[in-house]
Amino acid sequence: MHEFSAACAIVDAALQAAESYSVKKITTVNVEVGEFTFLVPEQLQFNFEIASKKTLAEDATLNINLVKGRIKCDDCGYQGEAQDEEDMPPEVAVFATLKCPSCQSSATTITGGKDFVISNIEAETDTTR
Ligand SMILES: [Zn+2]
Repeated sequence: MHEFSAACAIVDAALQAAESYSVKKITTVNVEVGEFTFLVPEQLQFNFEIASKKTLAEDATLNINLVKGRIKCDDCGYQGEAQDEEDMPPEVAVFATLKCPSCQSSATTITGGKDFVISNIEAETDTTR
């Protein structure tokens, strides 16, 4: 139920943002989903539909923009995208130590891609207020 709780969080955040404006209906929610969240986009879409039922976000389109994970190397100072471990599924790779693509050191820290953020929301506003 990983995707369902994420979908609920997205709906909640969208509704909160909508409250600040006179939003009649949320039409589109754009989210950036980090590689290391392991959220499955199709599952997230599906759960978003369920979570948004009977809210302002009902029938809204969920646009998912996948963001690459980022790491920092303590040895050479490399900061950037994590290297894909070809023979390791990402679910395993994140618990293993990610190697620095620059110096192959294992002294790396994940600095990005572990969360999801709403980048923006498109909505119909009530212009007659
Ligand atoms: Zn390095």
